This record gives sequence, structure tokens and C-alpha cells, in this order.
Amino acid sequence: MQPRPFLIRLLAFATLLPVASPPQATAANYDVLIRNGTIYDGSGRAPFVGDVAVNGDRIAAIGKLSGARGKTETEARGLAVAPGFINMLSWANESLIQDGRSQSDIRQGVTLEVMGEGESMGPLNDSMKREMSENQGDIKFEVKWTTLGEYLDFLVQRGISCNVASFVGATTVRIHEIGYADRPPTSAELGRMEKLVRRAMQEGALGVGSSLIYAPAFYAKTDELIALAKVASGFGGVYISHIRSEGTRLLEAAEELITISREAGIPAELYHLKAAGQSNWNKLDALIQKIEAARAAGLRITADMS
Ligand SMILES: [Zn+2]
Repeated sequence: MQPRPFLIRLLAFATLLPVASPPQATAANYDVLIRNGTIYDGSGRAPFVGDVAVNGDRIAAIGKLSGARGKTETEARGLAVAPGFINMLSWANESLIQDGRSQSDIRQGVTLEVMGEGESMGPLNDSMKREMSENQGDIKFEVKWTTLGEYLDFLVQRGISCNVASFVGATTVRIHEIGYADRPPTSAELGRMEKLVRRAMQEGALGVGSSLIYAPAFYAKTDELIALAKVASGFGGVYISHIRSEGTRLLEAAEELITISREAGIPAELYHLKAAGQSNWNKLDALIQKIEAARAAGLRITADMS
């Protein structure tokens, strides 16, 4: 069995077992036993000192397990034991090809890398593959995949320490069909873009990601993004966005995200909640009020400060 960090196995911790599980019978044997750690279960409740036992990739027991044995035992007195952290805005898409051990993140407790802020590693057409090959920097790799799912499988097959997931990039499907042109897609092109999103969702994409502050991403108008988000919505996906402006048009950009959420019937998350530029700092209260009002109206809007 390939060795995997304990933290990955702890991901399911909060949901699998009640925190107040009773002390376990003695003499039990587990694959892994983490002793005497200060357990933060991810619920936000106060931490408590205890032992965590793991079998395979599942939490098997939590509590005082003093009589139990583990094939691997770790003394965690004075250390925090927690479910793995999630990097909601990962750009490890090339570095994991270079070195799948993910040391820089995993040593900070990050066990899940979520990619796809506007651009994703698939789907690709021939010219996108060529471009991806030609524009490589220090990290050189052969583009052996076409779809987003194939890219994620490629990583896993190479061997990576972390778990990976991705949004499909709104910009990626745009480039796939209309390249770098500053124009709306024709209805046939939009239909093909929707089909690409559908395929990515079938492969397990988390939803559609956009990064509307960069070209050619910002050539996409709101209705194009709604159309793509609608497809993701049908699969229970999420729309996530680096919004169109974080400065002079910050509030209008947030309004666009809320409109997409409402029109596509999809939860939406605003990446890097901030007001850029001193003259815009005073907009933060209004921005938060806007999000709160949308939530109060029943929309599932969230934000992060990544
Ligand atoms: Zn961004």
C-alpha cells in the first residue's frame, strides 16, 4: 500500500463518527493510532485531548484508546490533530506534475487541492495542447490528457500525496471554441461550450470557475457565464469567481456574481473578498451587506479570502 499522510485519512473525521463516541474496547488493533493529540474535529467546538484510530482510509475510533495498538503509532501530545485543510484556490496544477509529494502544502496540513480558478487543465484541443507545451517555464511535461478528468487521473496515476479536485474553467471552454477573440460566442459555439462543461461535470468537476479580471476571460458577458453555470447547476455544481472588478466597479462585479447565482440556480462563491485601492476601501461594508442580503433572499452566496 502506498504510504499516505495521516491527515488525508482524517478528512472524513467530522462526518463519520460522533465526537462524543464512547471509550473503545481495549486490545483493539488498528492500522494507525494517533495518541494523545489535541483533536480539533472541524465542527468549531472546543478541542479535546484523545486518540484517533484509523483502518484503511477511514476513522475507526476516537476517544481514550489506551489499550489499543496500531501498526503505526504516532505520539501527538501537545500537537493538534485535525481533518485535512482544503486549499480552495490551488495553482498546484503544474507543480504536482513536477513533484507529487506536495510538500509545501501538505506540511501545512493541506490535503485537498482545489484547482480551476477560471482556467483549468482541461478540456484541451490540439492548439491548446500545443500552446501548453510551448509556454512551459521551469516545469516541463508532456500533455498526455485532453479532458479535465483525464488530467486529474494523470496526476493520480503518477502518484500524489494530496487529494485533488477542480472546477472547469469558463475561460478554458471559451478558448476551446473561440480562441482569444473578443466577441460573444455564436449559439453553436455556446452549445459546444455547454457540452464541454457537461462532460467535465460528468467527470467530477466541482462546477464552473471564472477569473473575469484577466483576458480573454473578461470577454465573456454575464449571459454566457449564466449559460455555463446552468449546466453545472444541473449536476449540483458551484459557480466560483475571481470577480470582474475588485476596485472601482467592485459592487457591480459582486452584483454580477449574484445575478449568475440567481439566474443559473447555482451556489456561488466569490474568490478573494477584498476592496483593491484605497479609494475603494469604503466599499467593503456595502459589499458584505450585498452578500448578506442575497443570502437572506435565499441565494447560496459565500466568499473566501484566499
Ligand atoms: Zn484570482
